[in-house]
Amino acid sequence: MADNQPLPGLLVVLSGPAGVGKTTVATRLLQEPDFTRSVSATTRPPREGEVNGRDYHFVSAEEFAKLKAANELVEYAEVFGRSYGTPKQPLRDAVKQNKVILLVIDVDGGKQVKDKKLDALLVFLKAPDKGELQRRLVQRGTENLKQQTERLSRSDLEIKIGHSEYDFVVVNDDLDRCVEQVKELIRERRLQLRDRKNAGQTLYPGLNKG
Ligand code: 5GP
Repeated sequence: MADNQPLPGLLVVLSGPAGVGKTTVATRLLQEPDFTRSVSATTRPPREGEVNGRDYHFVSAEEFAKLKAANELVEYAEVFGRSYGTPKQPLRDAVKQNKVILLVIDVDGGKQVKDKKLDALLVFLKAPDKGELQRRLVQRGTENLKQQTERLSRSDLEIKIGHSEYDFVVVNDDLDRCVEQVKELIRERRLQLRDRKNAGQTLYPGLNKG
């Protein structure tokens, strides 16, 4: 009987070093009909091809400060000198509609989400090794040499945090396998949440207040 019940919504944090393939994995996951993604606010300028409101909400430093002050961000962090944050309301809307909402954010943001009682699933993506990470980063060609070096040197710390703070670390070696693994982790967590809901627990308590 329980199998006819819809699976509850879920916040899924997807983090990993620059170049690991977060965007590619997220794009594949978003082919699922009940998956959606959180659109972050950022003070960094758009890159070529990026669309305001689809890729990010591109805002000024003043606008970002206002969002923070109004408590409208569930988490925020400085990444490579720019501010990034996750708006709260779309998360509430997504879980209300039993959707899986992907937060492609950095590890500082992931830790904040973890501390907020949002029943989020935290998945950290790792490259098979550092040489491969460097190759992917150079290949995508969106950063200059200085930025590539900066991102690579941050990756060690991120991997450490991924191992200590995240629920699962998944190696993105074979894309299909990686996507399937993440989907399975999501499904298992949703089944657990459904059981907890049926047992009378309130899900995502941290989303209901303030
Ligand atoms: P990019 O500028 O390359 O799109 O993103 C740089 C880093 O910021 C990536 O690690 C990305 O996951 C992270 N990021 C994007 N949006 C958010 C957000 O809303 N919060 C946090 N904490 N990190 C974010």
